[in-house]
Amino acid sequence: MFKSVFFDIDDTLLNTSVFAKTARRVALNMMIDAGLPLTSDDAYHQLREIIKEKGSNYDKHFNILTKNVFGEEKPLLIAVGMVNYHNVKFALLQPFPDTVSTLIHVKSKGYKLGVISNGLTIKQWEKLVRLGIHPFFDQVLTSEEIGYEKPHPKIFEESLSRMGCKPEKSVMIGNKFEADALGAVNAGMSAILFNCDLTSEEKKMISDEKLDIEVISQLKDLEDIL
Ligand SMILES: [Mg+2]
Repeated sequence: MFKSVFFDIDDTLLNTSVFAKTARRVALNMMIDAGLPLTSDDAYHQLREIIKEKGSNYDKHFNILTKNVFGEEKPLLIAVGMVNYHNVKFALLQPFPDTVSTLIHVKSKGYKLGVISNGLTIKQWEKLVRLGIHPFFDQVLTSEEIGYEKPHPKIFEESLSRMGCKPEKSVMIGNKFEADALGAVNAGMSAILFNCDLTSEEKKMISDEKLDIEVISQLKDLEDIL
């Protein structure tokens, strides 16, 4: 029987990919209205390339976009992009419909709850606080804080140590096969995948190597497992 349950944040507790994409689209359209001479699709394509190169946690994507287009940064356009990106992002930032009820269920069963997340510490905490779900968690650890990203065993080991829990009594719930599930299993934990389209190779790997990885289709399926 498990004692601790660890959650990933993005695309596990909330629909991060969808809101980020919508927020970027709206921000670019407002920049175009304010004078950015690109089509909506062209602007989105260029922004995606910049994000791919700099990473999603870099905070000057719009600066680079205006510099690429005009040969210099355009403060007004950058500000228009940032304000609209943040407004849309915060308006859309919602947990999955069954996130809160599942957390209540798991907490009420007496499990300790933790978060293990790749990302910037304050940015990840901000998501938990905005969703109002931070009080559920006994421990929150980010890759920025520990200096290792999932699937590195160190981030799992440090979380377990802070929780005072053995790996074999712990389960990790996430949406990424390698980072969340393989990482947890390699650290001696069990894993449950949610919101994840496994490739046939990954499915084969789970059954061939008898990996302790379960797949659920909705978060509330956890209520039948935990
Ligand atoms: Mg995730």
